[in-house]
Amino acid sequence: AFTVGVLALQGAFNEHTQLLRSAAQFHPATQFTFLEVRTAAQLASCDALVIPGGESTTISLIAERCNLLEPLRDFVKVQRKPTWGTCAGLILLAESANRTKAGGQELIGGLDVRVNRNHFGRQTESFQADLDLKFLGAEGGKADPFRAIFIRAPIVETLLKASDGAQEDEAQKPETVIAPSKDVAEGIDPSIKQQPVEILGTVQGRTAAVKGQDSATNNEAGDIVAVRQGNVFGTSFHPELTGDARIHAWWLGEAVRTLEGRKSS
Ligand code: GLN
Repeated sequence: AFTVGVLALQGAFNEHTQLLRSAAQFHPATQFTFLEVRTAAQLASCDALVIPGGESTTISLIAERCNLLEPLRDFVKVQRKPTWGTCAGLILLAESANRTKAGGQELIGGLDVRVNRNHFGRQTESFQADLDLKFLGAEGGKADPFRAIFIRAPIVETLLKASDGAQEDEAQKPETVIAPSKDVAEGIDPSIKQQPVEILGTVQGRTAAVKGQDSATNNEAGDIVAVRQGNVFGTSFHPELTGDARIHAWWLGEAVRTLEGRKSS
C-alpha cells in the first residue's frame, strides 16, 4: 500500500485529493491511501507528495511557521521521494525563482531550474490551452490534447546545471531567491542519483501576447510548462482544476514504479 500526501497548508489541495482518488482507479492492483499533510509527522508517513497551486509565498510562510520547510527539503532532496508540484508547487520545488520580495519566501528546491513567477501576467491574463503531452500517449502513441488551465502561472525559464545548482550564478540576479543546498545524508541509498532535467511540456505562442514582458524566453520552441528531474515533477498549470485525471494517473504510476524499483534493488 502507498500513502500519497497532499500538502494542505493553502491552495487547491482538496481538488488534488479528489482527482487522485479518481486516478487511483486506473491502478486497480495498487492500494493507495491519500492524506492531507499539515505536520512533519504526517509527511513522514508519506511515500509520495503533491504540492498544490495557490500562493507560493503564503505556502512557504506557513510551512516555515509549522516547521515543515526542513522536513519538506529532506523529503524531496535527501530521501528523494516522488513529489509533484503544480503552479505555486512548481515554484516551491525550483532551485531558483524571481519576482520574490526580499525575505518574503523560501523555496524547497529539488528541480535544477529557474522559474519566472506570474510569467503570463495577472489573474485577468489567465488562460486555457491544449497541450500535446507525449508522456500521456500509451506506448509512444499520440495522446489526446490536455486542456491546461494557467492562473498567474510560472514558467521554467532556465535549466540550471545540476552540478552547481542555483548557488553561484543565480544568487547574483536581483529579486532572486534560491533554495539552500541540502547535502545527501549518510544512510541514503546511493543508487538514488540525481538525474538531468527533462522537458515534458511546452505551451506555444503565449509570451508575445503579454504586454510588459520582461522575461527573455525562446518563444519559438514554446514556454516550458512541465519538467521532471528524477523524483521531482512540476507543472505550471492546474490539472486538478479539470476533470481530466490522466496526469494524476500517470504520476501515480510513475511514483509506484520508482518506489518499487528502490525496494527491489
Ligand atoms: N502566482 C502564484 C505564485 O507565485 C502561483 C499561482 C497559482 O498557483 N495558481 O505563487
